[in-house]
Amino acid sequence: MNEIKTMIEAADPIIIIAHVRPDGDCIGASEGLRHSILHQFPTKQVVCRYEALDYLAFIGTPDDVADELFPTALVISLDTANQERIYDQRYNTAKQLLRIDHHPHIDFFGDIDYVDTTSPSTCNIITRLLTEWNYTIPPIAAKALLTGITTDTGRFRYRGVTAETLTQAATLLKTGIDVTDVYQSLYEKTIEELQFLGQFLSKIQTSPKGILYVVLTQEDITLAQLTDDAAANFISQLSDVKGYPIWFLVYQTKESEWRVRLRSASITINQVASNYQGGGHPLASGCKLDDLNQLPAFIEELESLLS
Ligand code: AMP
Repeated sequence: MNEIKTMIEAADPIIIIAHVRPDGDCIGASEGLRHSILHQFPTKQVVCRYEALDYLAFIGTPDDVADELFPTALVISLDTANQERIYDQRYNTAKQLLRIDHHPHIDFFGDIDYVDTTSPSTCNIITRLLTEWNYTIPPIAAKALLTGITTDTGRFRYRGVTAETLTQAATLLKTGIDVTDVYQSLYEKTIEELQFLGQFLSKIQTSPKGILYVVLTQEDITLAQLTDDAAANFISQLSDVKGYPIWFLVYQTKESEWRVRLRSASITINQVASNYQGGGHPLASGCKLDDLNQLPAFIEELESLLS
């Protein structure tokens, strides 16, 4: 994609924007791209806009950006399927807009709209592009990119992982970064999280036709002294249960929103997520319920996917 390279090389300043409710992939891709551009072009101004998360602070810190910077800037929107989810809506006032993503299209946007849904993470796309352009990837960027690949592939376990995914991870490791360092930063758990695990597992429910799920109220989360994000991460405990190919976690946020993290082993579930103010990948989506009264209908729609 030489048009992307040309666009980036001609631009100064560059503002990289992640999606709302960020994850390892959008923050990793932002910091990985930022530091790689800066490594080749140290005099460029490259800033990142995303919501900081404690568990990802080891890969970077977002910037405050004045309104005046946007009209002269190239904005790069990373990992974001629809314009509404772009973290900083001032992207609208930018000189140029480039979108790089691996989600199925919800909106088409950007002067260049580059989407590769075969890539298991946006960090994989960035690593591939940097390699194609013969850019040197500095270790600080490699660590951020490996973080995003690791989180979006569930530690290289999901179906989208290919030989190319592993080759790209190898490219990043060749910069000298320590894989244990990344894993420890990502997966170290607090004593509160460990203690909550028993309680979480006791809350598992199953629907008549075989959907597996857990409901967590804000009271559950507060009593366990967890943040909403830490509680949401317990979705990983529900995977790989024999006979339950679709599973979800619904949790009540501090703002009293009922958020759903929805996962599937093989059946496409993002259409159901999009019926509930959400979307995402065929096998990993997110959405919202107005309240728990919607839960039976939501479960019924998921059950209709089971043959
Ligand atoms: P999560 O469960 O938050 O890890 O989300 C799984 C996937 O669904 C990610 O690719 C998210 O970007 C996407 N996703 C989550 N929530 C929403 C939403 N409300 N609208 C669109 N996509 C979403």
